[in-house]
Amino acid sequence: MADAERERMEYDVVVVGAGPAGLAAAIRLKQLAAASGSELGVCVIEKGSEVGAHILSGAVFEPRALNELIPDWRERGAPLNTPATEDRFLYLTKNHALRLPTPPQMHNHGNYIISLGNLCRWLAGQAEELGVEIYPGFAAAEVLYDEGGRVRGVATGDMGIGRDGKPTERYTPGVELIARETLFAEGCRGSLTKTLVARFHLRDGSDPQTYAIGVKELWEVEPSHHQPGLVVHTVGWPMDSATYGGSFLYHLEDRQVAVGFVIGLDYQNPFLSPFEEFQRFKTHPAIRRFFEGGRRISYGARALNEGGLQSIPELDFPGGALVGCAAGFVNVPKIKGSHTAMKSGMVAAETIFARLAGDDRAGVRAALQRSWVWDELHRVRNIRPSFRLGLLGGLVYSALDTYVLRGRAPWTLHHHPDHTQLTRADAAPRIEYPRPDGKITFDRLSSVFISNTNHEEDQPAHLKLRDPAKAVGVNYRLYDSPETRYCPAGVYEIVEEAGTGEKRLQINAQNCVHCKTCDIKDPEQNIDWVVPEGGGGPNYPNM
Ligand SMILES: Cc1cc2nc3c(=O)[nH]c(=O)nc-3n(C[C@H](O)[C@H](O)[C@H](O)COP(=O)(O)OP(=O)(O)OC[C@H]3O[C@@H](n4cnc5c(N)ncnc54)[C@H](O)[C@@H]3O)c2cc1C
Ligand code: SF4
Repeated sequence: MADAERERMEYDVVVVGAGPAGLAAAIRLKQLAAASGSELGVCVIEKGSEVGAHILSGAVFEPRALNELIPDWRERGAPLNTPATEDRFLYLTKNHALRLPTPPQMHNHGNYIISLGNLCRWLAGQAEELGVEIYPGFAAAEVLYDEGGRVRGVATGDMGIGRDGKPTERYTPGVELIARETLFAEGCRGSLTKTLVARFHLRDGSDPQTYAIGVKELWEVEPSHHQPGLVVHTVGWPMDSATYGGSFLYHLEDRQVAVGFVIGLDYQNPFLSPFEEFQRFKTHPAIRRFFEGGRRISYGARALNEGGLQSIPELDFPGGALVGCAAGFVNVPKIKGSHTAMKSGMVAAETIFARLAGDDRAGVRAALQRSWVWDELHRVRNIRPSFRLGLLGGLVYSALDTYVLRGRAPWTLHHHPDHTQLTRADAAPRIEYPRPDGKITFDRLSSVFISNTNHEEDQPAHLKLRDPAKAVGVNYRLYDSPETRYCPAGVYEIVEEAGTGEKRLQINAQNCVHCKTCDIKDPEQNIDWVVPEGGGGPNYPNM
């Protein structure tokens, strides 16, 4: 649509994404403005129907960044209600569980078991009290540039464009949000971040980013199976030793247990289904007992970054910066990225506040290199890549790296892009998954139902195939359409054309839970995930 039709709003800073990184940045900016007695217009836009609707995490939360940002969070009622009290680290075989010593990074004393979605809702309230304008239900669909190529803000997507690309009676043009600085806090594999990385060559000096998919359920369990504060992690079964993956099981308040399975997207077998592996995991005798007699409340999935320090791209570009998981600050051995996401947002806020005051040399990456985030990620940088030696090799290397070298190895292990790792279907063993029992294990469609996912049906597809012919020509023929298995929402289906019997890829885009796995794992990078109309997608209550 023509720019002239769009309404325009001007701010000092626009933040894209109301996750922990974006909200921490907005709060910090307003705190700095208040401390210096200056006015600063800060706006946050969020594609979920409300703040928290698209947030999915574990989550065991390390409060270090929150302590720095809002030291009196307890008095202000932050939803950190369940201190972590016990850590268990288990190695599973098909029928047995062996308790291993908990690695030091996974000690959670001082941390809290939370819903990250609820923490974001609370952070949004704190931000609004400081004068931040937050607009949920608005997806940033386009980066705006000035004539010199500097980022000058974003535009939200038009609403009411039909499937045929033409305006419907619901049509409302997008809004241009013009800013002196724009922070991209879109989380893992942000759709606009992707375009910025390409345009400004932000990845030229770093390793490729690598990822995992996390599939999660929230349960209400029998009181006798509930131990608030208990944190359980497992490795081993049902993964084979070449595939990186493991589970988490966190006991929150109100008889709730968050359970999930995380699988590295460098997995090789195209027949692997992360969703079904997760379902199978719950049938293990050491795990099943927690859920017997319980009720599943919610379901969802989300990708997370695993590249660590060596995959952090350049963060600054003219007119803005990347923060949080949009850049990739997850500490993989800790399985935590919320505290580093928040801290990166805070440091970016301090840096661009200085830039706005005239310090042109202030850089977010340089400032982060001086913060505890860099030190923390530097120490663990070799642990995730060491798992290419297999589970046992990775555990042995990690123990050596942690206890003997103490993260100070004079080498850095590197990464390969995940999408290049699949083997062809004719060289891979098929995997037969058991049928769901409807009590402990479920199918995908009934799962998506409880993610409350909803998209306006009459809109252009937000999952675009760069070359539609590759769906069958490459993906089906060579890899047996792995997207039909790795998508945790059953969006992709191979169907037969009536009459001709020819295969065709059907995309049920309305089921998409915005995990971004297809954008990452497609072997030819042929799937381009772009934002649908704002407000569409999952409506997670407290994931
Ligand atoms: C299964 C799983 C388990 C995890 N467990 C833990 C844990 O136990 N502890 C921990 O600390 N960390 C954990 N993490 C990691 C943690 O969740 C992330 O590091 C953290 O959420 C990153 O914060 P963020 O603000 O950068 O991004 P996100 O939390 O992803 O937030 C980004 C926000 O931006 C919005 N957005 C994206 N694009 C647009 C757009 N174009 N326009 C408007 N809005 C947009 C999204 O809807 C979202 O609300 C886990 C992650 C997963 C997936
Ligand atoms: S379509 Fe892609 S982004 Fe959406 S749920 Fe499936 S894999 Fe995730």
